[in-house]
Amino acid sequence: TLPGYESNQLFLRSRRVFPDGTTRATVERDPVPRYVLRGDGAHLIDVDGQRFLDLSNNFTTLIHGHGFAPALDAVARLLHDGTCFSNPTVHEIDLAELLVDRIPAIEQIRFVNTGTEAVMFAIKAARAFTGRAGIAKIEGAYHGSYDWAEVGQVGTPATWGPPDAPVAVPSYAGMPTSVADETVILRFNDAEGARRRIAAAADRLSCVLLDLMPSRIGLIPPEADFIAAVVESARHHGILVICDEVLNLRQSYRGASARYGIEPDLIAAGKIIGGGFPIGAIGGSRQVMSVFDGSAGRAKLVQGGTFSANPVSMVAGRVSMEAMTEEVFARLEEMGDRLRAALTAAVERHQAHYVISGAASLFKIHANQTLPHDYREAYPTPEQAASMKSMSEFFRDQGIFLPLGGTACLSTAMTESDIDTIADVFDRYLGTMPR
Ligand code: PMP
Repeated sequence: TLPGYESNQLFLRSRRVFPDGTTRATVERDPVPRYVLRGDGAHLIDVDGQRFLDLSNNFTTLIHGHGFAPALDAVARLLHDGTCFSNPTVHEIDLAELLVDRIPAIEQIRFVNTGTEAVMFAIKAARAFTGRAGIAKIEGAYHGSYDWAEVGQVGTPATWGPPDAPVAVPSYAGMPTSVADETVILRFNDAEGARRRIAAAADRLSCVLLDLMPSRIGLIPPEADFIAAVVESARHHGILVICDEVLNLRQSYRGASARYGIEPDLIAAGKIIGGGFPIGAIGGSRQVMSVFDGSAGRAKLVQGGTFSANPVSMVAGRVSMEAMTEEVFARLEEMGDRLRAALTAAVERHQAHYVISGAASLFKIHANQTLPHDYREAYPTPEQAASMKSMSEFFRDQGIFLPLGGTACLSTAMTESDIDTIADVFDRYLGTMPR
């Protein structure tokens, strides 16, 4: 199903006012985007009246799907009392307490509005704490749009350099060369390389920025020796470890780092903790978070933000997260396990060249026989990109929105029968493949 008449009409208007007709690069268009009229639980309905099971959930944000009534009711009650103030409210304390109580590495927290800002302030906090500017980060991992976090994210085989010395590829023309000079790129799951490169740059590094299961590297798990190499090297040289859990916090009640057994110095969070409204958060040990402490004069690191900790995001986030009890996380994970097993069984039945990854409520279907192990292996060949596109189109024709990038997620609004439907559509898709 191509986007219909109404989407085409809206795109005509959009093209006049937005460069390329969209206002974020991540909008899918082929060549026209599908404009949404509204969301409805696990589904979205486009402006032409077509209904889709939504496996994007705004890039994994909506852990309860669209229109989660308890959060909306709480927000509705709040709206008439005011949506933002220069004063603090009780709502920020409520959400902060919930996160501090759940997430072992978070003793104190600050709120901002996006994951980009959360990553940015986590890096700045590491700098303010250590007095060093440099960062180490994982090749190909996505962390939003702060320069130091996005360098090295857009490499291609032509630019990424030798495997033992990955290049800090600038992410836009005109990016200051100093950004690349201050950034050390590590390859995911390359323990030896991580040790060597962190040691070589140790006196310049403030932090290692990690995502334990980067979506752009195919939602593959981190290898234990890689995590150990990063954490041990960082500790040894007095470098902080930042876990970007903007996406992967949804992996468990206590977040991703707890699940994989590490205690980072700082965590950047976002997405699910805002209950469908804009949010970001920086949390960590009391000692490191003290860089934000301005009680005795100017803080080492000043962080404000006109909409930071706005009560709408705080209330929606708290209500959504309260509903994510340990039992609900466990149920979502069971659904994810059952889906990944059913997708894998379909691959085996058809002896197809596909493989499934992911954890908890996250999954990805790879048009490849084996799982990648770093960004270079995850980087799609033209054939793989074409396969992903045709699979996504098949799903769309069957009423399922499977994001083109392939990172997909479940929500508590989904039912066991939705799981069966996804597995069945994939099985039928594989049935269309030539043997
Ligand atoms: N880090 C990760 C791991 C992300 O997935 C994202 C967003 N997809 C970000 C940071 C940036 O978050 P935001 O889009 O809210 O700025």
